[in-house]
Amino acid sequence: VYPEAASALEADMLATMSQAASPAAIDLLAAQSRLWTRWLKEHEGGRGETDAVERERILARGDVLDRLVHPPLVVVMGRPNVGKSTLTNRLTGRTASIVADLPGTTRDWVGAVVTLGSVAVQWIDTPGVRESEDAIERSAIELSRQVIEQADVLIAMRDREVGFAAMSGLKRRPDLWLKNKVDDESGALEGDGASAESPVAISALNGLGLDRLGRLVLKRLGLAELGR
Ligand code: GDP
Ligand code: MG
Repeated sequence: VYPEAASALEADMLATMSQAASPAAIDLLAAQSRLWTRWLKEHEGGRGETDAVERERILARGDVLDRLVHPPLVVVMGRPNVGKSTLTNRLTGRTASIVADLPGTTRDWVGAVVTLGSVAVQWIDTPGVRESEDAIERSAIELSRQVIEQADVLIAMRDREVGFAAMSGLKRRPDLWLKNKVDDESGALEGDGASAESPVAISALNGLGLDRLGRLVLKRLGLAELGR
């Protein structure tokens, strides 16, 4: 079993590496491949008790890896003019970004790939969900609802004057709360983002608070250690 399985593993690893979105995926993939190769060598067949424990441990690392190979979906929801597009542009402008049609998301609505620390995420903004009489607007709202419900991290965004978008009828709550247009240093110290009352203060315009925002998003993805 060992030599054939190990070389199949190697081929698989190289193929995955070529598709991986995050810079951090490369090192982790190589390390993971080495762990499996060693495991295969030491536990031919892999049926014993200790084999299973170690196997679980390697598989657990695989969950992190999966997040790096397939970019998680981050959705920003907020009323018009709170600065969603400015934030997306700012984040893509700071890093190498591509607009791509990635699998598993709505085709017409792909957003941008943004790099937070060494992790690539797919970043999409939406006006949120509201009542409407207009048929075309209603279908846009339905699309918005689907994107919101698929999000790995859902961010609610307001600005200094305009409040958070309505959440009525949504099946989930935001994971992170943001207040934009806090353009001065003093305000940027407020808020941990855990609730509407304690939003993270940022300025999409001048970049204040955006590194911290990136780390908070990664924390909610279970990838905090890759936020540097
Ligand atoms: P969206 O409708 O939520 O996508 O909002 P936009 O990104 O189009 O921004 C609406 C307006 O707010 C624009 O005039 C932006 O220049 C302005 N804006 C966005 N972010 C900031 C910010 O952090 N500070 C200030 N002062 N203005 C901002
Ligand atoms: Mg916009």
